[in-house]
Amino acid sequence: MPQQMIRLICPNLKCRKVLSVPSHARGKNVRCRNCGMRVEVPPASATPRPAADAEASTPATPATPDL
Ligand SMILES: [Zn+2]
Repeated sequence: MPQQMIRLICPNLKCRKVLSVPSHARGKNVRCRNCGMRVEVPPASATPRPAADAEASTPATPATPDL
């Protein structure tokens, strides 16, 4: 399962750094790495779902030994 990251924008108007936090940080506070401000991570909510590209499933190729 891929780790889902949440993107937040630092509320510090002088910073406005985009922070990527792991989804397990929901409902917690993280600290902006740029300015050190505490940023609240919103709990699970309606996050805009990016158009998920069709995941290329790996074709089942049998291991063929080089002859
Ligand atoms: Zn910041």
